[in-house]
Amino acid sequence: MAVPKRKHSNSRTGKRRSHHAMKPKQLQSCPRCGTPQPSHVVCPNCGQYMGRTLVETEE
Ligand SMILES: [Zn+2]
Repeated sequence: MAVPKRKHSNSRTGKRRSHHAMKPKQLQSCPRCGTPQPSHVVCPNCGQYMGRTLVETEE
């Protein structure tokens, strides 16, 4: 099996990991109640998704 001849420098490791940072999640507002929510997710406030009530919420 091929094995690296030399240890990677800390600088080289850091340069590779410079692309690993996470971005904050983008939130969109619910078309019914306007609550910010992640896309493709049932609304946590009114329980609606694609215009249908999927989760009953106490209100
Ligand atoms: Zn909603």
